[in-house]
Amino acid sequence: MLIGGIEAGGTKMVCAVGDENGVVKDRVSFPTRQPKETFEDIIGYYKNWDIKALGIGCFGPLDLDKKSATYGYITKTPKAGWENCDIVGAFKEALGVPVGFDTDVNGAVLGEVTWGAAKGMDSAIYITIGTGVGVGVYANGGLLHGLIHPEGGHMLLAKHPKDTYKGKCPFHENCVEGLASGPAIEARWGKKGIELAGRDEVWELEAYYIAQAVTNYILAYSPQKVILWGGVMHQEQLFGMVRKEVQRLLNGYVAHETITTDKIADYIVPPALGEDPGIMGAIKLGIDALT
Ligand code: ADP
Ligand code: ZN
Repeated sequence: MLIGGIEAGGTKMVCAVGDENGVVKDRVSFPTRQPKETFEDIIGYYKNWDIKALGIGCFGPLDLDKKSATYGYITKTPKAGWENCDIVGAFKEALGVPVGFDTDVNGAVLGEVTWGAAKGMDSAIYITIGTGVGVGVYANGGLLHGLIHPEGGHMLLAKHPKDTYKGKCPFHENCVEGLASGPAIEARWGKKGIELAGRDEVWELEAYYIAQAVTNYILAYSPQKVILWGGVMHQEQLFGMVRKEVQRLLNGYVAHETITTDKIADYIVPPALGEDPGIMGAIKLGIDALT
């Protein structure tokens, strides 16, 4: 059985076809233009495949409330042309198959829970530190939604006393995205993260912020696995630094050996699905839409 999965991002739409075991058979990528043109590209692609369902992990914010008149819409995005866009409706109508829908990061955590680093677990989080910061939450065996959906990328942090950078987020002076995203690094230090690889002070400050966020997510969600990824985490030295700082901040309070011992190396980890958790998660959202 073939299932479609779309990782819908602000710059590109990755579209894949996979099966119920998560084996990806084909994939293409289209630039994110205006909704009409973009949907035409995507629908044209899927018309060539006999998919039985489609899953979409999407940039947000989104309306995920199935009782709402605007369920399946991208809502208040600053991305020009995409505000109040009925993305689920567009594909349901054109392709005539059930459509599963969630945030890109909820999709990614679902992919890792189904086939990756958190396989078989019933609670896990996926944090991406890239152009933005996003957090997908899988709790008690399901993806976490609520009034809207978690927005862990904007969790507020204590600023480092020596950090004079004002923050990149237009809404908050001291949120994770504003202080620790790729663009925040670039604005603070005047160079792209990749060009700062050898500068220890850059990554010490970065780990200081990421670890605070991870500590707060651990305290709030009690995940059995913490998966960290996104462009910035390609600085893999950050993993060890974040683990150590999380242990220091928790200070033994969450008294589980997974956190308090070296086992933390297998607790705060990169994805097991490489660059694919989002696309595999989207396929799983499609599979789940069948039932
Ligand atoms: P997006 O969040 O747009 O989907 P990415 O997850 O690739 O894309 O994140 C892009 C951000 O990550 C950019 O700000 C970029 O400067 C930063 N980045 C990408 N690669 C690296 C790297 N190797 N080291 C540090 N920062 C990086
Ligand atoms: Zn913010």
